[in-house]
Amino acid sequence: MAELILQAGKERSLFRRHPWLFDSAVHSLRGRARAGDTVTILAHDGRVLGKGAYSPHSRIRCRMWSFDADEVIDDAFFKRRVAAAVARRQALPELAGQEGLRLIHAESDGLPGVIADRYGDTVVLQLTSAGAEKWRQAMVGALIQATGCARIYERSDAGTRKLEGLTAATGWLHGEAPAGEIRIVENGVRLGVDYAHGHKTGFYLDQRDNRARLGHLAAGKSVLNCFCYTGGFSLQALRGGAASVLSIDSSGPALDHARANLSLNPELPAERAEWLEADVFQALRDLRQEGCGFDLIVLDPPKFAPSAAHTQRAARAYKDINLLGFRLLNPGGLLMTYSCSGGVGLELFQKIIASAALDAGRDARIVARLSGAADHPVALDFPEGEYLKGLLCSA
Ligand code: SAH
Repeated sequence: MAELILQAGKERSLFRRHPWLFDSAVHSLRGRARAGDTVTILAHDGRVLGKGAYSPHSRIRCRMWSFDADEVIDDAFFKRRVAAAVARRQALPELAGQEGLRLIHAESDGLPGVIADRYGDTVVLQLTSAGAEKWRQAMVGALIQATGCARIYERSDAGTRKLEGLTAATGWLHGEAPAGEIRIVENGVRLGVDYAHGHKTGFYLDQRDNRARLGHLAAGKSVLNCFCYTGGFSLQALRGGAASVLSIDSSGPALDHARANLSLNPELPAERAEWLEADVFQALRDLRQEGCGFDLIVLDPPKFAPSAAHTQRAARAYKDINLLGFRLLNPGGLLMTYSCSGGVGLELFQKIIASAALDAGRDARIVARLSGAADHPVALDFPEGEYLKGLLCSA
């Protein structure tokens, strides 16, 4: 096995058990390793620090599999890690019975580059690093053993694969296509999941609890749901008794899917739902021009800042929509606002929202801090895992 030798002093992050080693931390590679191969990590003074997956194309040159120098990285290792991740979910009563569930949340489950989401008895697997790619078959075997799932579909088409020198890979790895789309029930709402073409693995499971929370806030309210995708927040608002729900997205197919999702739930009052295909930045201005106001507004935009390099531009975009959001909020209303940008931390996000409220002339306060659901844990040694942050503000 090749050895990756660190620059002097660069072993410190490994003592904190941080799973990434950047190219700048690496002194040299002793021996030969190809993309995804397991390498032993050595401090400059020769101490053995663990094992990781080598990735010559990425600035993250190595992702740690284990901080135990004696641990063997083989099929059995992945069986243990996958089984532990599944068991963590089973130990949480709040996740019991969820048909849409994240089983593996990458670094935070000790499996860098590996995402696995379960929709009913289908698991959708997404591999985003050279190391994860190398162990695809091990992951499939481990998932079948840990879950007994009937099918595994691969959705390894995330843009970040390019950074690892990988091309897209999609298709069935185990079992065959189910007839029709996959249906799940999320907190009483039926939803179709387009695992082959939808965003991420088909659905935004991370917002499950927050969608339910919106439902609990919605009774009798006029709701505006911006960036609605397939209508998850909108349907929970209707279920919660909203007086009206206006949902906006720029994607026609997403809105078609949202309407189809609504029709799967005939008990919901479809006549209270309105769907608008538009750019949210423009639509919010138009709504303001028309003198509209809402009691409850959701802003759940896409990742404006995938990394720190995009932070400034992203900050302006968050400021813009939140400023408009506050302006459209009826007195005493609630704004539920999110950022899923890795490049915008919680502190900065809160500052942006504060400045948006100030410029909108609204006296606002945080009544709740929101985050991803429990099946999207954040490993304490991997703060980058906390990408989703939300604030519920009353103004
Ligand atoms: N809240 C959703 C997830 C939102 S994903 C849920 O709970 O499932 C972000 C959505 O924003 C996508 O559907 C994308 O089509 C949409 N989007 C991206 N940029 C947009 C823009 N400028 N205006 C309107 N919608 C946009």
